[in-house]
Amino acid sequence: MKHTLVAFAFLALAMGGCTTDTGSDRDASVATTVETFEWKLITTWPKNLPALGTAPERLAVLIDEMSAGQLKIKVYGAGELTGATEVFDAVSAGTAEMGHGAAYYWVGKAPVAAVFTTLPFGMNAQEMNARLHFGGGLELWRELYEPFNLIPMAAGNSGVQMAGWFNKEINSLEDLKGLKMRIPGLGAEVMNRAGAAPVYLPGGEIFTSLQTGVIDATEWVGPLNDQTLGLHEVAKYYYYPGWHEPSAAIELIVNKEAFESLPIHLQRMVETTARAINQDMVDEFNARNFSSLRSLVEEHGVELRKLPADVLQRLRELSDEVIDEVAGTDELSQRIVDSYRNFQREIQSWSDISEYAYFQARDAEGD
Ligand code: CA
Repeated sequence: MKHTLVAFAFLALAMGGCTTDTGSDRDASVATTVETFEWKLITTWPKNLPALGTAPERLAVLIDEMSAGQLKIKVYGAGELTGATEVFDAVSAGTAEMGHGAAYYWVGKAPVAAVFTTLPFGMNAQEMNARLHFGGGLELWRELYEPFNLIPMAAGNSGVQMAGWFNKEINSLEDLKGLKMRIPGLGAEVMNRAGAAPVYLPGGEIFTSLQTGVIDATEWVGPLNDQTLGLHEVAKYYYYPGWHEPSAAIELIVNKEAFESLPIHLQRMVETTARAINQDMVDEFNARNFSSLRSLVEEHGVELRKLPADVLQRLRELSDEVIDEVAGTDELSQRIVDSYRNFQREIQSWSDISEYAYFQARDAEGD
C-alpha cells in the first residue's frame, strides 16, 4: 500500500499572511496533513461481469468520491494480478489489500467457510442478510477468518440461483450418475454422493470446458450472468431451482493490517460501502434476471425444466449428511453450523407466514 502525505498548509499560511506575523497566527496556520491510500482490489470474477464484477468497481468509485480521493482503489479482474483461486491467499499476505469473491471458494482452508456463502436448502438472500447483520453471522465469520489475517464483510448476494445447464434431461437420480458437473461449495460434495463427478472451475473457464466436453453440465449463477457467459450456446436444458445455492453471499475481504492502518472514517466508509453494494447486487439481480430469462427462452430456444421432486428430496437428505460432517470438523465449525441452522429454523417460521404466505395469496389472486 502506498501512502502519500499531502500538506494543506498553504491556504492557512496565505490566510495568516493577511495579518501581522504573530505567534497566534502561526498557531492557526499549523499544517493539516491528509494521508492518502492507494489500494488494490482483486476479484474472482471476470472483469466487469454484470453484478458480480461491477459491484467492486462501484465500491471503488463510491469510496474515491466519498473520501475525496483519500482512499483510491484499483480493481483487477480474475487473472489480471492473481488467478481467481489465489484471491484469499493474496489478500491474506497483503499482496492486495482487498478481495471480492465468495467464501465457499476457500473450503480448502476451512470446510465451514462455505456456510458464509450458502448452504444447500439453506436461507435465501433476505434471510441470509438478516442472519449476517442482526443474527450473529458476521461475528462468527470474522472469528473464522481472523487466523488468516482477514476481515470479511458481506458485499453482494446473487439471490436464488438456477440449478444449472445440462445437455440431457434429468428425470431421475440415475441421470446424475457419472455426470461431470462444474459446481462449487458443499453442493459439490452432495452431487458426488448422488453419483455425479463434480469439478470446480472459475467462471472464466466454464464455457470452453462445456463446449469441449471436459464437463457435461454446469451451474453458474442465474439468467443474467449465465447469458453473459454464453452458456445457452453450449447446453440445451436450464434447470431450477438452485437447491445448492438458495442465495450466495458475496464477500469483501480486507487485509487486517491494511484495514487497521486506515483512519476511522475510512474504515467506516469501507464497511458502509460494502453494505451498499451488498444491497445493490440483490436489487440488480432481481431487476435483470427475469428479462435475461425471457431472452434465453424466447430468443435462444433454451428449454426450462424443474428438477423432479424425488431428485430434490434425495439431494436434501444428502445435504443434511454433508452439513453434519462439516459441523463435526471442530468446535468452531459446530458453532457456525448450529448458529446457521438455529437461525434458519426460527426465521423460517416467520418467512412461512409472511413472504411465503403472501406469494401464495398473490398467485391465487392471479389465477
Ligand atoms: Ca453458483
